Amino acid sequence: MPDQLPKRYDPQAIEARRQSAWSARDAFRTPEPAGGAPRKYIKPSAPFTSGNIHIGHVRSYSIGDAYARFSRARGDAVLFSFGFDAFGLPAELGAIASGESPNDWVSRCASHMQGQLERLGFSFDWSRSFLSSDALMYRWSQWLFLTLLDAGLIYQGTGTVDWCETCQTTLATIQVEDGLCWRCHNPVQLIQQTQWYLRISSYVPENDARLEELEQSGIWDESSLASQRFVLGRLDGVELDLAGPDGGALTVFTPHADALGEARFVAISPKHPDVERWVADPAVLEQLEDLRSGGLERDSRDAEAIPLIDTGRTLPSPVTGEPMPVLISPIVDGRFGATAVLGIPARDRTDALIAGRLGLGVDDPDEVAGAGPPIEGLRPAVRYRANDFSISRQRSWGTPIPIVYCEQCGAVPVPEEQLPVLLPLDLKPTGLGNPLAEREDFVQTTCPGCGGVARRETDTLDCHFDALWLWVPACVPVSERERPLQEIFALEDLRQWLPSERLVAGSDSGNFVFDQRIVTKALRDIGPLAFLADGEPFAGCLFHEMVIRDGRKMSKHLGNVVDPDELVARYGADTVRLAVLYAASPQKSLNWNDSAVLRCHRFLGQVWEYSHAKLAQAQRERAAAGAGRGEDAGEEARDTSEHLRLKLSQWCEAGVGRITQDMEGLEMHSAVRNVMRLFDRIKDFEKRVVARDGELLGASLDAMLEALAVLAQTLGPFAPHLAEELWLAFGNDHGSALAGDHGAQTPWPGVSFQVPA
Ligand SMILES: [Zn+2]
Ligand SMILES: [Zn+2]
Repeated sequence: MPDQLPKRYDPQAIEARRQSAWSARDAFRTPEPAGGAPRKYIKPSAPFTSGNIHIGHVRSYSIGDAYARFSRARGDAVLFSFGFDAFGLPAELGAIASGESPNDWVSRCASHMQGQLERLGFSFDWSRSFLSSDALMYRWSQWLFLTLLDAGLIYQGTGTVDWCETCQTTLATIQVEDGLCWRCHNPVQLIQQTQWYLRISSYVPENDARLEELEQSGIWDESSLASQRFVLGRLDGVELDLAGPDGGALTVFTPHADALGEARFVAISPKHPDVERWVADPAVLEQLEDLRSGGLERDSRDAEAIPLIDTGRTLPSPVTGEPMPVLISPIVDGRFGATAVLGIPARDRTDALIAGRLGLGVDDPDEVAGAGPPIEGLRPAVRYRANDFSISRQRSWGTPIPIVYCEQCGAVPVPEEQLPVLLPLDLKPTGLGNPLAEREDFVQTTCPGCGGVARRETDTLDCHFDALWLWVPACVPVSERERPLQEIFALEDLRQWLPSERLVAGSDSGNFVFDQRIVTKALRDIGPLAFLADGEPFAGCLFHEMVIRDGRKMSKHLGNVVDPDELVARYGADTVRLAVLYAASPQKSLNWNDSAVLRCHRFLGQVWEYSHAKLAQAQRERAAAGAGRGEDAGEEARDTSEHLRLKLSQWCEAGVGRITQDMEGLEMHSAVRNVMRLFDRIKDFEKRVVARDGELLGASLDAMLEALAVLAQTLGPFAPHLAEELWLAFGNDHGSALAGDHGAQTPWPGVSFQVPA
């Protein structure tokens, strides 16, 4: 450690020095599960291996890292690590563009991104990081698939997908541009396709019921709770059973309990389990089959054009007994789920549009009759928009689905001990067809049931399915990762880290979190996660908004992208991290402009130079004392600042209290401002002492150094390089004050600390 701090703030030199020290002492390794220290698994979002860290990542990880460092500084055992989300279409397209195999492409991207994140000084435990496309990891997907299949939570069904005849491939939504294929620009067709589905419906009500507990915990922020309510799509209303003249009966739902007399038709989802009972006429059956196989035209998903099938049958109005036509229409799915509903044109604009298309008279809303006599069997009811979804894709860069097709046995699950079903690594997608289906060495296999000839499933799992388990493996020490999954879930270590104390992710993560909550409950009931009684993967959750510029989303196309590498090269990582935290509270979009960076850079430079000046002054005083000149005879007489030192101690104490509270609530924006205020107070102290005593000497200088050390400690979570460098310069050692940790950083100041009298 240099005796004399360099006068000028040189972030590049400071950050290189600290990062190499962190690396040398393996500072962020996850501590062993021992001792009574609180354990916190702080879960950052799993980045796509897109090739580059963007400023949105910097925002997200700056929040999570500040919280992780703050927690370690207080003696908590912290796990802060993630796996890359490496499968999926973006990687496939990236590989096509660069002429590599997707495996080479994602490996290169992940290692580049790790380098960028390390340069930013984020305290991830890289030893626990992984790629979802590693065979050791995607066996988790295959195991989860088999486990959920066995529990009846995965099933095969029929769905429609966009298909390009020219390219002989299915297309994702983003590959369809104005109805044309992104690659060949020919029109896209909708075709029927056998798909694998995840049955979430049985756990949706529990996801709903648990929301209140999450809210009461106080550590789910409003935005994350709102996302869960949105995905849930809960509708409160009533249901009743309608019995028709021809013996048919149907339970129907409506959110408009007070307008039952205005019901004019009944609409059934084509996915309703009993829909077939309403289709007697062969012509109607044909229409239903067409609807199921043809899917929806892209532009016919709204009420004006959505398919309506008139079954030719009726049910009586619950109030008037008048016959109401029974329709089948997919418009029910998107609004109420796979159910049956009353159409009430007087109350609902969509219902009015449908009634118009059917030629049903619509009453003047002002003349609708009031509530009639009580209706027998009417009961409160709830419906959810959240519904089962497809998890399979007809593409090659994904987890192979562990199923084989045998002529004798049909679809047969691959036995667990044969996992993982390996994806060939030398696949080279071109955008044509599904390269996996063309690999006979992959496709040809034997049936685990009868030993006969069989062919492997060539669909792969959507990367959304990987996300269902991607939050777990960081809790598994690398040395244990090759065990069978059942044993992994029994590991004491994993059980102690779960549930994650806090998820910190972007506000667009609501769907992922919702489905992770569903699957955790399923695995609780099946057994592996039985120790999570409430079936919640995250005890707390913070969602932050995006980084935008000039009020718009950043994109290469708009030319308004902020390059983190450039900013770090110019101002240093500490400045960039501090600036993204300072510029906006997590709940607000961060509208980028350079003023926050300039302000934060100036602030850190001042802290550095001011601290340096005071340390140098103290060294001069000590040197003078050592040279025998002793105490300045006049100093005692001039020291009239004891009350100011007391004030400084109170300012520090109050400041630390406020910053601590901010950090506990992940209000980094406010914490940074309070750190800046504390610095202002410290400078103010000097001014006042100088005004009284002429200069800052003796006990006042000591008090100043003590306060600056506290300032460095509070900067630790935001500007960790500068903070640790100053902390060491003030004569402290790293590590000694930290419980069971590796001395990763400055310890957090006690709210009550000593100021020399
Ligand atoms: Zn095409
Ligand atoms: Zn067989």
